[in-house]
Amino acid sequence: MSNLLEGKTALVLGVANKWSLAYSIADAFRREGARVLLTYQGERQQATVEALGAELGAARVLACDVTQDQELERLVETLRAEDDRLDAVVHSIAFANKEDLTRPFVETSRSGFLLAHEVSAYSLVSVARATAPLMAGGGSIITLTYLGATRVITNYNVMGVAKAALESAMRYLAGELGATGIRVNAISAGPIKTASARAIKEFSSVLDFVAQRAPLRRNTEPAEVADAAVFLASDLGRGVTGNILFVDAGFQIVGL
Ligand code: NAP
Repeated sequence: MSNLLEGKTALVLGVANKWSLAYSIADAFRREGARVLLTYQGERQQATVEALGAELGAARVLACDVTQDQELERLVETLRAEDDRLDAVVHSIAFANKEDLTRPFVETSRSGFLLAHEVSAYSLVSVARATAPLMAGGGSIITLTYLGATRVITNYNVMGVAKAALESAMRYLAGELGATGIRVNAISAGPIKTASARAIKEFSSVLDFVAQRAPLRRNTEPAEVADAAVFLASDLGRGVTGNILFVDAGFQIVGL
């Protein structure tokens, strides 16, 4: 491809390791000429994400635990102080307690339900609110979702309900922020082996099932998700907002 993101700055939240979808997205953004900023959650992850940032040629690596409003405020203050504008923000963040991804959904605790929704869905709203003022003249906000938002996927449980909230939040944000030229979209990725995915019980059997049944008869590659994010962040996606773009080898159309 040819510098589709030249002159653009992208903030990518959710790089934990090389297998993170956010890592592939940051890598593709760099390839397309973007200036990339990364975040990490907590001191425990700082050195790891700084090292990954060096590999990716990230311009900055900043702290941001999305459950801490003051960290999001500090991140925005830091960018504003440096006169940084943002053209794209990638929200690639989710979390649920492991026990809520293994026991029956009906046994989900109140605290587990709220935690999954706070980290995985509300954070899109708080990130959009904090970063929209840095996107004067327009920009692109991209989040990552999964088919479990609208279909019952065994063991996905509370995360499916949180993804439904995330997708709805994406549409409401697109409806409001469109007036300022900010587009908000979600990529619904097929299952990919990452740290978060491994928390889901019997995840490898999901990969096997999809590889047999998806129209493309294979699983999704992280690079395919990343290239879709490039499209949404670039001017090629200028007419697209409030959309869920499936990058899943076509699995979402399959019935019996
Ligand atoms: P991942 O590498 O584990 O990424 C999840 C990220 O969320 C990690 O960087 C994690 O940071 C971060 N995070 C969790 N709590 C946070 C908090 N309070 N503040 C800031 N960051 C926090 O797994 P992934 O598969 O790439 O997931 C990225 C996104 O893609 C998620 O929204 C996921 O639901 C979605 N998705 C994944 C798949 C799949 O099959 N892999 C399919 C569809 C959609 P720490 O590790 O430091 O906690």
